[in-house]
Amino acid sequence: MAHLQVQGLHKTFDGITAVNDLYFDVRRNEICAIIGPNGAGKTTTFNLLSGVLPADRGKIFFDGNEILGLPPHDIARRGMVRTFQTVSLFDSMTVLDNVKVGCHGKAGAGLFSAALRTPGLRREEKEITKKAMEALKLLGVADRAYDQAGSLPFGQQRLVDIARALASDPEMILLDEPAAGLNAHETTELASLILALKNRGLTVMIIEHDMELIMEIADSIVVLDQGMKIACGPPADIQKDPRVITAYLGDED
Ligand code: ATP
Repeated sequence: MAHLQVQGLHKTFDGITAVNDLYFDVRRNEICAIIGPNGAGKTTTFNLLSGVLPADRGKIFFDGNEILGLPPHDIARRGMVRTFQTVSLFDSMTVLDNVKVGCHGKAGAGLFSAALRTPGLRREEKEITKKAMEALKLLGVADRAYDQAGSLPFGQQRLVDIARALASDPEMILLDEPAAGLNAHETTELASLILALKNRGLTVMIIEHDMELIMEIADSIVVLDQGMKIACGPPADIQKDPRVITAYLGDED
């Protein structure tokens, strides 16, 4: 069974169809890219998948369970997390505390133990710190753990943002334009990091305008144009698909 199944997903904004009767599957442990020109509906698709926006109609199955209509924190608790186009760290908090925020969705301690600072809560805090440090190590920024997030260069802030999403031990991560604003060297490192996430067993979905990056790391690509899927398949097929060349890659060539 596919890890994610999207069936007939549809979303309009005041008469503009942003996502038009969209169907696609994402296999477990693959890297699936969503590409398309500006305004094609890529981010809206992520917003619908992650529960940030309600859909007009359609179905989304994650791990075989329908998730459409669930709130974002519930979807995250089930193992699907995301990052946004804009990095939004708390600048004056440490890098570590920023990442710990990402773990709290799964924390089990209730108000009672929080108020009394029970041994259970202290154990949980320790566990959260450990998970956050692991995520920072994975992204190669653990040496900045005790620095203020706002003092990091943009490329590292982006990595901390991804670490925060990973700290809750998700099964699937949705990355919205993670290479935006990165230089060539940082983009190459990002490609290795995304492949490392796959090697750890995660399923990855990525929206990205950097075609070189996508062609290098994606196992499958869904191409959107004006809210509609115009092609999907492995990178080698997408690169030579005439509809894609006309709608999108043609501009680049
Ligand atoms: P980009 O590559 O520029 O980020 P995209 O493929 O992610 O584009 P979306 O942001 O999903 O495209 O937008 C799809 C369409 O829906 C666009 O016409 C956009 O103007 C419209 N749209 C997106 N969000 C909203 C909103 N909250 N309210 C009204 N219209 C919206």
